[in-house]
Amino acid sequence: MIDPGELLHALDLAATKHRDQRRKDAAKSPYINHPLAVVTLLWDHGVRDRIPLLAAVLHDTIEDTGTTREELVAAFGEEVAAVVCEVTDDKSLAKDRRKELQIEHAPHLSAHAKLVKLADKISNLRDLIDSPPHDWAVERKEAYFVWAGRVVAGLRGVHEPLERAFDAQHARGTFR
Ligand code: NDP
Ligand code: ZN
Repeated sequence: MIDPGELLHALDLAATKHRDQRRKDAAKSPYINHPLAVVTLLWDHGVRDRIPLLAAVLHDTIEDTGTTREELVAAFGEEVAAVVCEVTDDKSLAKDRRKELQIEHAPHLSAHAKLVKLADKISNLRDLIDSPPHDWAVERKEAYFVWAGRVVAGLRGVHEPLERAFDAQHARGTFR
């Protein structure tokens, strides 16, 4: 079970770290809306463990802001930091390689990291339908849906309700 105060501290840190970032939708929504959506998806599907919930809030801090693993260890401990690292892409690699590696690594992630990644993909598919990047052609959205489906194929077996939620979002992905 999670301490609400600790959850608020994680949201406060994530909001500060992402403060200068926006999502790619036409309205340029504040970036923090996405980690908030990811943790809310976990909560709404019955996840109550502190590690995946805190890691969900913080999941894009290392990849997209200057946050270090050590900062997360100091604030929330080794286990939360380790899950965030598991879901962090190596930005020194080319984008196509990073996309391939997400597919390859998915089956080998910890159960907690699989939960975070499932909710992350649900959130991104929902955004691609409800508040998509204004400049994405249909083909790019379709390619993202296919790729996300391949990543999630490697995440199955840890949380059936979340997998069903992913499948429901994926089924909405008919853009023409
Ligand atoms: P990107 O990685 O460029 O963008 C998707 C990511 O942006 C998401 O995973 C999400 O990551 C973040 N994001 C921010 N705002 C939104 C939003 N409103 N809706 C959804 N996601 C958002 O996508 P890809 O490179 O994967 O592009 C999809 C496909 O298109 C790929 O298969 C690629 O091969 C192809 N492609 C096509 C191009 C073209 O047509 N010009 C160019 C490049 C790729 P997070 O959760 O980390 O914030
Ligand atoms: Zn994300």
